[in-house]
Amino acid sequence: MRAFIYSALPVRVIFGRGTVSQVADEVRRLGLNRALVLSTPPQADQAGKLSTELGQLSAGVFTHATMHTPVDITEQALQVTQQRNVDCLIALGGGSTTGLSKALALRTDLPQIAVPTTYAGSEATPILGQLERGQKTTLRDLKVLPEVIIYDIDLTLTLPAALSVTSGINAMAHAAEALYSSDANPVTTQLALNGFSALVGALPKIICDPTDGEARSDALYGAWACGTCLGSVGMALHHKLCHVVAGSFDLPHAETHAVILPHALAYNEPVAKEALRPLAKMLGAPTAAQGLFDLARRLIAPRSLKELGMTHEALDLAADLAVSNTYPNPMPLDRTSIHALLEDAFEGRPPRSQANGSRDQGQDQQEIVHA
Ligand code: NAD
Repeated sequence: MRAFIYSALPVRVIFGRGTVSQVADEVRRLGLNRALVLSTPPQADQAGKLSTELGQLSAGVFTHATMHTPVDITEQALQVTQQRNVDCLIALGGGSTTGLSKALALRTDLPQIAVPTTYAGSEATPILGQLERGQKTTLRDLKVLPEVIIYDIDLTLTLPAALSVTSGINAMAHAAEALYSSDANPVTTQLALNGFSALVGALPKIICDPTDGEARSDALYGAWACGTCLGSVGMALHHKLCHVVAGSFDLPHAETHAVILPHALAYNEPVAKEALRPLAKMLGAPTAAQGLFDLARRLIAPRSLKELGMTHEALDLAADLAVSNTYPNPMPLDRTSIHALLEDAFEGRPPRSQANGSRDQGQDQQEIVHA
């Protein structure tokens, strides 16, 4: 065994079915009694229901969480926390809601209980991305790590099939980059393989039957495992590209991950072949990049930045931003190759191997029709 450093994150995880009923107990266990329930507008009813169930422990709801955590929304929510003497935050939803909760915790140090309903994995990380004046910036601070995560499989049954796929690929991206991270270690490597494998098995079942409890359970477990990797080790080119592209050009987060992942892995695979080999094997493909491109095709995930609403003119700026500020990546970064990668992702072409410039043509596999 080679020398390594692993820093465990302090978080209590509750996983199961119907576990949302344990939120009140967790608020009491933390010694708190004025919890603000956060959600996005589409999940306002669920937030209202949880607030009602909390009874005296609830200080109400704030249901305006927004993707990429814009600072003006955080400021509105901050006023609500102050006006209502809130002593605890409950994030019921995906990464957008967790992001708002983290942004509030950064400013107030309030304890957080995250109840995730997508596979984004933000609940397991001390990372916060925020959008201010069109720029998305990221910070790492233990203050933003939720104290408790309550995973309730039942809450994920309503996640639409298409979003389940892209959100699942978002989680797989955390695992893939953890495997070749500059601080990869045996703990995160095992978690990454475990989480990736759970998602590879679960996603095809979920799109056939979104109410398949066992597949949902595997996917949610995979989301936790992959999210924990994201929180524990540094990410590389793929996350930087998604951050730049989705944050600066206002593209949907999970869908952007689904489009870019095969291209980013193809870029790194020539020097990270050993690390990525187990993923290729799980996907039944010669490379992880090709396996993921084929998986996205079979699960009918978006494959081009064009279809997500990016403009061709934006590629130049995206390439500039992606190579600005050096960060660890297995393959050296050069602007010309990154621009070519983005061009391929923009058009939805198969990923191109950096070793010889050839494209993976993909395997002849049938699409699975969403339920
Ligand atoms: P999201 O939270 O915006 O959710 C997408 C949509 O799905 C929303 O309308 C939401 O209301 C709805 N939804 C969520 N769960 C549902 C369910 N079970 N049933 C029905 N509808 C449901 O999307 P996301 O991809 O989970 O999160 C994206 C955000 O998270 C981005 O801002 C991204 O930057 C952030 N993120 C942060 C980290 C981190 O570690 N800091 C990690 C991953 C993602």
